[in-house]
Amino acid sequence: MKLILSTRNKGKVKEFRSLLSELPLEIITLEEFSSPPSAIEDQPDFCGNAVKKAEMLRDYCHGLVLADDSGLEVDILGGYPGVYSARFAGEGASDEDNNRKLLYLLQGIPLPKRRARFRCAIAIAYPGLETSVVEGECEGYIGFEPRGESGFGYDPLFVYAPKGMTFAELGEDFKNKISHRAQALRRVKTKLREILQLI
Ligand code: IMP
Repeated sequence: MKLILSTRNKGKVKEFRSLLSELPLEIITLEEFSSPPSAIEDQPDFCGNAVKKAEMLRDYCHGLVLADDSGLEVDILGGYPGVYSARFAGEGASDEDNNRKLLYLLQGIPLPKRRARFRCAIAIAYPGLETSVVEGECEGYIGFEPRGESGFGYDPLFVYAPKGMTFAELGEDFKNKISHRAQALRRVKTKLREILQLI
């Protein structure tokens, strides 16, 4: 049975492959298709975007599909950037641009008010079945300057509170055990086992 991932992000594909390796599934990605549909991420929350992406790809390839949407919520910014995380500093913004904007908005804000969390929603769609969606989150706070080399996006600013280090300092192996995506993927594994019994 093939499982099609609605992503081209190599980092995510690696995480997904590693966490789902015990399941009897051949994991393939959007790279295998010549002109897959691309969904506009215009839903108000991560679940909405994940479901939209999964169902659009399911209707295109008529198979078992998994799609995710994720981002950073900062409490003092009312949950922003949230679903706008990738384009916080504008369409086509780089990770550095987004991080700079975040630090600028939090200038002068003391540590206790810099609480934030990464959130991830993953939707699983299959023709004829109701789409399932699971979530994962990881709590922390936003540091005062970028620290660390690994990861992507907001990793150099996101401090994982139990370690007092950023995701970019903690490194991929550690991050992949405790991240929002890792938590959601553990829940996906349970859902996929249920779905595999039905189809
Ligand atoms: P998407 O799930 O690919 O749409 O991710 C949206 C954006 O959220 C990314 O471009 C990053 O800016 C941010 N993001 C999501 N997950 C992470 C993460 O694990 N580390 C750092 N940034 C993340």
